[in-house]
This record gives sequence, structure tokens and C-alpha cells, in this order.
Amino acid sequence: MPGLPRLACTSTFLHWPLPRKKMPSVHPWITFERLPVARRDLLRLTWLVSNEVATDAIEHAHVIQAADVIYGYGMAMCTDERSKFEEMEVYFEKDTWKTLLSQINSYDQNATVCSVCRQVSGVGTTAKVKWIQCDGCLVWVHVSCTEFTCKPRGNWFCSSCED
Ligand SMILES: [Zn+2]
Ligand SMILES: [Zn+2]
Repeated sequence: MPGLPRLACTSTFLHWPLPRKKMPSVHPWITFERLPVARRDLLRLTWLVSNEVATDAIEHAHVIQAADVIYGYGMAMCTDERSKFEEMEVYFEKDTWKTLLSQINSYDQNATVCSVCRQVSGVGTTAKVKWIQCDGCLVWVHVSCTEFTCKPRGNWFCSSCED
């Protein structure tokens, strides 16, 4: 999407695990629930670790260690009900997983990040601000940051899933 404003890199945004363009591409038009398992796992792991570590974990049984984990706004994705993030336990070293779970549980469940403008806000906390979730990669976006004026019916896929 050309022409989107690039936000200044304030410390608030430093810990976002991966720039959007480095996100693993998701097969277009396949909803998260129907993605092939390896792709779905890769997507979920990259909310918390680098693409390299995630690939290593899936393809070479690398056990994810504490030092691999990037605690940032990807955490918001892990708290999403649809993500079923508990299924990722198999990829983590035991204590790392325990720490991770407590971090996830203490994370503000309403701290959702718009994947377009990167502003953090609570879903539904302001009636006027409408959000939409990508049915492919589960990111949330302000409806006002999409081409829509209201929430479209049916599945919606963000621009990175459509690529
Ligand atoms: Zn936005
Ligand atoms: Zn998407």
C-alpha cells in the first residue's frame, strides 16, 4: 500500500517483532483456520520470534529458548482467541513456555495494535472506533485504515495476505 504514513520510530514501537513486509506470506484467501499446519505454526511463532528461529523450530526441531523470544506487540496476537496459541507449546523449552504464558496472561488483553497505523487501542473500548480482523493472519486493523467505510460482510483479508 503506497502512500501510507510511516510512523516515527518511537520507543513505543521498537519492540514490534517484525516489520510487516517480513511477515511470512500467507496463502491468499485461505482463512487462518484452514491454513496448512506448518504455515499456521510459522505465522503464530513469528509473533514472538524471528522468522529464522520460527523456521528452525518447525523444520529442524529447534527448541525455542528464552533468548529467542521478543516480547512486544506480537503478544496481543497470542491473546487472540482464534490464534489457539496454546498449541505452540511443543516448540518451546519448558521454562521459556512458562514465562511466556505468564507474560501473555498479564498482557493487557485489550491492547490491540492496528497493523496499518500501528496505534494501540482497546478493541471496542470506543464505540466510534471500529476494528476488523484479517481472516488470514488474524491481525486487527481500524476499519478507517482500510478502504471500507463500514465492516464488510464475510471474510476479509489484509493487504499482506492478498499479496
Ligand atoms: Zn489504524
Ligand atoms: Zn492478513
